[in-house]
Amino acid sequence: MNKLDSELVRASLVSAGFEFVNRIEEADLILFVTCSVRDHAETRALSHIGNLRAFCRKRPDVIVGVMGCMAQRMGAELTERFPHVRIVCGTRAFPLIAGIVAEATRTGGPVIRLDEEFPENGPDREPSQRPSRHSAYVCAMRGCDNWCAYCVVPSLRGPQVSRQPREVIREIEALVADGAVEITLLGQNIDSYGRDLPGDYSLADLLEDVNAIPGLLRLRFITSHPKDLGPRIPQAIARLDKVCEHLHMPPQSGSDRILKLMNRGYTREYYLELVGRLRDAVPDIALAGDFIVGFPGESNEDFEQSMSLLREVRFQQCFLFKYSTRPGTRAEKMPDQLPEDVIVERHQRLLKEQERIALENHKAMIGREVEVLAEGPTRKKPEMLTGRTRRNEIVIFQGEAGLEGKLVSVRIEETTPVAIYGKLTNTSPV
Ligand code: SF4
Repeated sequence: MNKLDSELVRASLVSAGFEFVNRIEEADLILFVTCSVRDHAETRALSHIGNLRAFCRKRPDVIVGVMGCMAQRMGAELTERFPHVRIVCGTRAFPLIAGIVAEATRTGGPVIRLDEEFPENGPDREPSQRPSRHSAYVCAMRGCDNWCAYCVVPSLRGPQVSRQPREVIREIEALVADGAVEITLLGQNIDSYGRDLPGDYSLADLLEDVNAIPGLLRLRFITSHPKDLGPRIPQAIARLDKVCEHLHMPPQSGSDRILKLMNRGYTREYYLELVGRLRDAVPDIALAGDFIVGFPGESNEDFEQSMSLLREVRFQQCFLFKYSTRPGTRAEKMPDQLPEDVIVERHQRLLKEQERIALENHKAMIGREVEVLAEGPTRKKPEMLTGRTRRNEIVIFQGEAGLEGKLVSVRIEETTPVAIYGKLTNTSPV
């Protein structure tokens, strides 16, 4: 979501006449789009902001702004701590950024905007203003009503607000007309899309309608909450040809006791049943997950339950996070906060196990011919292209730059835990 927010900010500034530069020394405006989900992300952002102090002393004309979740959480504290920060733009004020910059230029700032109403349908952008020609993120909904005990999203981004289906579809049609072939629908809790809209239009209906857009080749959606993933979703993935066989559905823990403390609303058994239903409907589906390691009160036994869930599901990809206390969450006040060394040790063990599983999963692909959407040259070797399978695996193969944005066939020859290498066999899909 932060990536999309940055894209939308960039697009509205370009529409307002701003140009982007590659070197900070050339900039008149420096904006940080921040995340508060983990303490580490905030610490890094604060350190980057602090590092600009000397630069701003030499260039007092430069406007520095902080946007997004950390801006929403800290508000005026940011300008008190860093007087060179002249804009604080909260999560609902993004669409107003061009006007906010103009105000800060005119008045010298600071301009602090935290309590805006997000426009009903979110900011629209000029379809051409996006970083990738072939793939694009599209916001289907913002905010979340789930209140997981460790999460700051509901308090910083507000309650769930779904965009009207016709707005989402109109934006995707414009992106496809401009060359996008892969769309990823975004929402903090995408499976509950539509619940706040009149009628009974749901994510399954949206997938159906977007799937029908001519010219679109692939459709993805993230992030799925196990408790909200309805029975029509596995069927939609199985039936709709453009919907990719990939689902990011974080379990967060394998222990029922911890899931309850986290307020996740499902049990380990329910999660496994859901995985079974998904695999019955779509046998080749790739599942991605998130785990939080070291949630307050997590015993060794609870941790082993996470380890065994990771082994049982055999995720194609897993994001493993060390628990970090977030201000204002319920988990902040919970007893039995674990020492850092215990969290680090458990995190390492889980990482190692996931690496082993990922390598085995990747090795099983050797010899298979897969459909890859060619994305562009790799950073180190321009003669090599990178692309993604429908299951969201990254594949590296030799090919010409003209293949970018095309579906090609690649035979898998070699793998590592993070990358898969293959040989181009056909410049059209298998
Ligand atoms: S569902 Fe996701 S965004 Fe919503 S509260 Fe839980 S972790 Fe946060």
